[in-house]
Amino acid sequence: MLNISYINKATENLKSFIPEDKIFELLEQTKNPDPVRVREIIQKSLDKNRLEPVEMATLLNVEDKELLEEVFEGARELKRRIYGNRIVLFAPLYIGNECINNCQYCGFRVTNNNIERRSLNLEEVVEEVKALENKGHKRLIVVFGEHPMYDAKFMTETIKTIYNTKEGKGEIRRVNVNAAPQTVEDYKLFKEVGIGTFQIFQETYHTETYKKYHISGPKSNYLWRLYGLDRAFEAGLDDVGIGALFGLYDWKFEAMGLLYHTIHLEETFNVGPHTISFPRIEPALDTPLAERPPYAVSDDDFKKLVAILRLAVPYTGLILTAREPVEIRNEVLKFGVSQIDGGSSIGVGSYHESDEEKIKRSQFLLGDNRTLDQIIEELSEEGYLPSFCTGCYRLGRTGEHFMEFAIPGFVKRFCTPNAILTFLEYLEDYAPEKTREIGLKRIEEELKNIPDDNKFKMQLLEKIEKVRAGERDLYF
Ligand code: SF4
Repeated sequence: MLNISYINKATENLKSFIPEDKIFELLEQTKNPDPVRVREIIQKSLDKNRLEPVEMATLLNVEDKELLEEVFEGARELKRRIYGNRIVLFAPLYIGNECINNCQYCGFRVTNNNIERRSLNLEEVVEEVKALENKGHKRLIVVFGEHPMYDAKFMTETIKTIYNTKEGKGEIRRVNVNAAPQTVEDYKLFKEVGIGTFQIFQETYHTETYKKYHISGPKSNYLWRLYGLDRAFEAGLDDVGIGALFGLYDWKFEAMGLLYHTIHLEETFNVGPHTISFPRIEPALDTPLAERPPYAVSDDDFKKLVAILRLAVPYTGLILTAREPVEIRNEVLKFGVSQIDGGSSIGVGSYHESDEEKIKRSQFLLGDNRTLDQIIEELSEEGYLPSFCTGCYRLGRTGEHFMEFAIPGFVKRFCTPNAILTFLEYLEDYAPEKTREIGLKRIEEELKNIPDDNKFKMQLLEKIEKVRAGERDLYF
């Protein structure tokens, strides 16, 4: 486990790449934007270009209702044109809630004596994974606190165990990780076990706010965290996710921070983040800051945030979690969210244990408690295509994450067929009769949208027949 003096030494020559003064300046100078300029910026995004900070600041300053509706419509249009209607589903798996950090907004913080601490051993991990597989999950994000118990060896052993756990026709095909920033050497261990995305959320990009709410522990060093994903790239991991916790500081500043982080990764490693997460602070047991966030983001501002992120980084996946209530989730899905969790339980051990136990061990409380099946049914009825696809990752199509966006027809060629195949697996193996009926109808509709003379349609139909006959894990 790294001690704070090692971390301080390792960061003493680093400088932040988040230009705070510049962000304030841009947000100030773009107030009351000209509608013509706003429309040009939306068009730039629809033409598949990442926006510059001044352009994002301009969108963030749109207050006029009608103009704002154009921003929303731009985001919806981008989603329709580029990403189609598939939504990738995953589940979070909390491995342990021990933590040596003291983050004021988090129920797991070291000073929270009212939380029941627990870490899963490998046998319990197997039980959790089987429970998830029995629901139909194929993609997980495993979450670890920061603690000497959860060193890179422990974490990577856990990930290996997850990949090796098979129940019936179930298996986990992609494990993403949300954990503390690692050293280059430790990231290499993650690369060896074949993780998907390594996520680190900066929480807040505003240094003073960061200092104020990260009182002690390794996480109190802003730069160690800010450069955490640079070290991942140095170790050869080319699939990373960034995020900010909304509610700690001004949401417009944080949105700009996410864009500057993206630009930094693009400029340094030629690859931007695969995903961006933007959770809002949610209440947590015995955590006053989370009950009353200092910069609480209203629902209206949250919708604006999601639409503007979509436009600012058109090729980056946007992840929305079950922290958000159903109504908000449904609305911002249309703005281009590409991944959501379903049937989530965020207590340690809670997929195979009782409800009360799970609350005692939760980091925060969820806003959306629907089961995976309910979510799938509702997504299908809304015309979305639920997907458990892990195709790119399995075929080594990583790194150039803008591929699905930049290569013409990529979504049609790969994502939609893979969504259909993995959705069909779910319907065959796990869905109750009603969902199965709705889902099969949805697949029929999707197939009708693919012209018969499309040379890949035949291959897809062949694979569909194979899945129906019992073959699994087919993808393009
Ligand atoms: S084909 Fe690749 S980009 Fe498309 S959904 Fe599957 S993994 Fe994602």
